Amino acid sequence: MAFEGLTTRLQNVFGKLRGKGKLSEDDVNEAMREVRLALLEADVNFKVVKDFIAKVKEKAVGAEVQKSFTPGMVVVDIVHKELIELMGGSQAKLAKSNRPPTIVLMAGLQGAGKTTLTGKLAKLLQSQNHKPLLVAGDIYRPAAIKQLEVLGGQIGVPVFSLGDKVSPVEIAKQGVQLAKEQGNDYVLIDTAGRLQIDEALMEEIKQIHAAVKPDEVLLVVDAMTGQEAVNVAKSFHEQLELTGVVLTKLDGDTRGGAALSVKAVTGCPIKFASTGEKIDQLEAFHPDRMASRILGMGDMLSLIEKAQSNIDAEKAKDLERKMRTAEFTFDDFLEQMEQVRKLGPLDQLLDMMPGMNKIKGNPNFKIDEKQIARTEAIVKSMTKAEKQKPDIINYSRRKRIAAGSGTSLAEVNRLLKQFEDMKKMMKQFTGMMGPKGKGPKGG
Ligand code: GDP
Repeated sequence: MAFEGLTTRLQNVFGKLRGKGKLSEDDVNEAMREVRLALLEADVNFKVVKDFIAKVKEKAVGAEVQKSFTPGMVVVDIVHKELIELMGGSQAKLAKSNRPPTIVLMAGLQGAGKTTLTGKLAKLLQSQNHKPLLVAGDIYRPAAIKQLEVLGGQIGVPVFSLGDKVSPVEIAKQGVQLAKEQGNDYVLIDTAGRLQIDEALMEEIKQIHAAVKPDEVLLVVDAMTGQEAVNVAKSFHEQLELTGVVLTKLDGDTRGGAALSVKAVTGCPIKFASTGEKIDQLEAFHPDRMASRILGMGDMLSLIEKAQSNIDAEKAKDLERKMRTAEFTFDDFLEQMEQVRKLGPLDQLLDMMPGMNKIKGNPNFKIDEKQIARTEAIVKSMTKAEKQKPDIINYSRRKRIAAGSGTSLAEVNRLLKQFEDMKKMMKQFTGMMGPKGKGPKGG
């Protein structure tokens, strides 16, 4: 995930400040010097860093810090607030036209993730009860039309295409017309990418713009390209009035500087962040939550939202009841693992929890998605009866399960032992909670 390096560095800086009962001007200056270096190293634009530090310093040397009993915390709070401001303050939402359909035009370099985003955004809109229409306006990249059709097919959203012989301007116009006739309330127009800022293509997208007058022009930029992403955004903004930016590939190993500079340099808000190749890996960009994540304070709000939209509440309640009554079987165990996996890659989930970045930094701590798949394979190789009553699994069955799941006898043994331990713990816990699990014994 992006920002890991920055988070660690900032936490070191603030760790030093926190212990102090009083902060001298020198302490603040020293801390700001380190914050400055951390931001530069994270590839944040030089000028952006300079302004940022100046603002934080101005507030940090103010009276509040001197008076406070916990001056370090006050400094962290100032940095937090300034980071939020830097990324645009409040969340910038997708446009919604009073006279539907709302027309969204995608722009960006080739490979930035435009076509993928078009599909993702359609899925997001669909989940909010909108009826999007996708328009295949990238007639130059050989597979783009097909790619969009496949994405649309996956989520059951119609895709309008006229092949690659008709001009994109005409395709866009007819697409919008069709949306009006069919009652689609959003039209998402995919356009041709550029390897770099290319005049002919830029001219074309301007013509599409003039023809359909979009309510939203989203520039899709690859966060992995660092400073280049900011330059791209700047030149597009000069040519085409952008209304928002979408950062893609934030799941990658980016240093994160782009996310922190784009708004400041272009004035254009970041509206979404794309965090993976899968169609549901798109998040609304919340500057406040991102700032918390950068400072290692976690992002519990996003985590809770994810849980609410992905976890089946009935099933969760049932699992909780089974745990309390220690009726928990391997079937439930599988179910529980599936529920958690629906939330996304574990690695990304941990990033949302406060302080987890420190644990992740520990070389002894490894999240191994493959290990989870192996555990699942083992459970799936058990018979129905065995899942209900693991005690009946004898030595020869253990060997069979290991062979059936492509794992080893040792792994099967380990899992069975862990499961037993877990059940024992649940029993103890249930005992403490009293027979009905309603409260502590005697209480
Ligand atoms: P386009 O040329 O701008 O339309 O780019 P595509 O939508 O074809 O995306 C280019 C590549 O980037 C594809 O392989 C996508 O799967 C991948 N991609 C898009 N968004 C993301 C993202 O958020 N994270 C990762 N890891 N890959 C992405």
